[in-house]
Amino acid sequence: MELNSIKIRIAGTVKESVVDGPGLRYVIFTQGCPHHCEGCHNQDTWDPKGGKLIGAHDLLNDIKKARLIRGVTFSGGEPFLQARALARLGREIKNWGLDVITFTGYTWEELLRNNDPGFKALIEISDYLVDGPFMLAERDIGLAFRGSRNQRIIKVRDTLDVGQPVTLNYF
Ligand code: SF4
Repeated sequence: MELNSIKIRIAGTVKESVVDGPGLRYVIFTQGCPHHCEGCHNQDTWDPKGGKLIGAHDLLNDIKKARLIRGVTFSGGEPFLQARALARLGREIKNWGLDVITFTGYTWEELLRNNDPGFKALIEISDYLVDGPFMLAERDIGLAFRGSRNQRIIKVRDTLDVGQPVTLNYF
């Protein structure tokens, strides 16, 4: 898949964030989310036809201009709705020397059960995956980078190597 031919539907971007993973990060808020968590703060991202379409190449060029960032975060919305496109963009981001963190409302186990090649590709280019829906009953404002206690910071490479989630409390 040529990067030039890929469009990604986004709600917006933040060029320098310190609240979406370790270090200074470029954040892409993808558009469209099927989870509809009670208490979601990003309800504007739910409509899969909302937001705007942007070329993956244009996103990459913008990311390359952000000289001080450590990495890129795919957030939402639900990034896995556009898994193949984000995996392709993610590969370029990694080649540029940055790390990738993907937030998802799916659990790690749900993603694997789905057995979708696009899901697999997005998992594999992610250094970390923050998984699971936001659960109001599990809400904890003391957690780093997550809204509720059910959500996990998963080290993707280690998890794939040992076959079960390897998690961190903090990046
Ligand atoms: S997964 Fe995230 S964006 Fe989607 S409804 Fe839940 S909290 Fe909102």
